[in-house]
Amino acid sequence: MGTARRYGPYGGSFVPETLVPALDELDRVWRTARGDPAFRRELARLSRSFGGRPTPLYFARNLTRRGRGAEIWLKREDLVHGGAHKFNNALGQGLLTVRMGKPRLIAETGAGQHGVATAMVGAALGLETEVFMGEVDMDRQKPNVDRMHLLGAKVIPVTTGRRTLKDAINAALRDWIANVRTTHYLIGSAVGPYPFPAIVADFQSVIGREIRRQSLAEFGRLPDLAIACVGGGSNAIGTFHPLLRTRVELLGVEAGGPRGSRGAASLTYGRPGVLHGSFSYLLQNDDGQVSDTESVSAGLDYAGVGPEHSWLKETGRARYIAVHDEDALRAFHWLAEDEGILPALEPSHALFAAVREARRRPNQRIVVTLSGRGDKDLGVVLDAAR
Ligand SMILES: *Cc1c(COP(=O)(O)O)cnc(C)c1O
Repeated sequence: MGTARRYGPYGGSFVPETLVPALDELDRVWRTARGDPAFRRELARLSRSFGGRPTPLYFARNLTRRGRGAEIWLKREDLVHGGAHKFNNALGQGLLTVRMGKPRLIAETGAGQHGVATAMVGAALGLETEVFMGEVDMDRQKPNVDRMHLLGAKVIPVTTGRRTLKDAINAALRDWIANVRTTHYLIGSAVGPYPFPAIVADFQSVIGREIRRQSLAEFGRLPDLAIACVGGGSNAIGTFHPLLRTRVELLGVEAGGPRGSRGAASLTYGRPGVLHGSFSYLLQNDDGQVSDTESVSAGLDYAGVGPEHSWLKETGRARYIAVHDEDALRAFHWLAEDEGILPALEPSHALFAAVREARRRPNQRIVVTLSGRGDKDLGVVLDAAR
């Protein structure tokens, strides 16, 4: 399941020859690490004492009243160290880097959340850390640039293309090709060439495993529906994986952007193609050029999506929809005012879908993965309210 090289026709590894040995080594080291009790103990120890896991499963009583139907429960990944689920993957891959004996980490970042998570882990594990970030994003997300600096990481401005996430990934891949013997590329979502999608799913599956355990403890059975937002797809695949062989319905929510646009909804509006080393759904124009995307949430603003989601869509095991910017903003305010929680704008897309689903599901239970907290988004939310 988590170790497939391909997901039906999706996935694969479309990379230059020079990267093949590094991908093979990573695959080998990850597979041995998974089976090594010492590695698992260390991962569990740091997840707990550094990361703050397990995160709670919270009954959103007031949001449930608003939905007037199914009970809505929140998986509180906003309480993980750094304020988002990104830490789970950064920690896991950081430990793999140490195991491979590589002294240097590189990463790409869009909104800066993955860069911050990588910088925290790099500091704690004593790894030299450099983060590629588009110049446009560095302007938009200055507080995260400051955080990365304070955590001892170097931030490298990317000045090519549209100077945003896609260009930052290209720059990181180029650096990796040049420095592959000393460097691990810590990809931040369930995307990229094999084995990255499988590794990221593995380290994020702690979310779904805890949902299983906590649902049984809180209400005596699994939820009827699990919902998560989908950018590259890592918090969603981590939520879904441990539930794949159950009867729980799975719903992924993409960024629909402003009304009338395709936003960044690769699975909803795209078609399969190759981007960043793997074959998956992709927003592209008629000539196969990767489309420009737009979304109120920087973390969902990516034209591609992890290959396993393409397969889950095609097999019908998971369903995917798009939610527009203004609906995500509405859900942000609902959660703030109803529950006293400021959510990130990314999971606000999933929250909107949850309230809508709840209305037609009396007597059911819905778990929504609240992938991050909203402090980083206050500027956007306040501007939108003006
Ligand atoms: C980065 C981010 C996302 C989107 O990434 P996925 O890989 O799709 O999970 C979602 N929520 C938050 C809070 C993020 O920081």
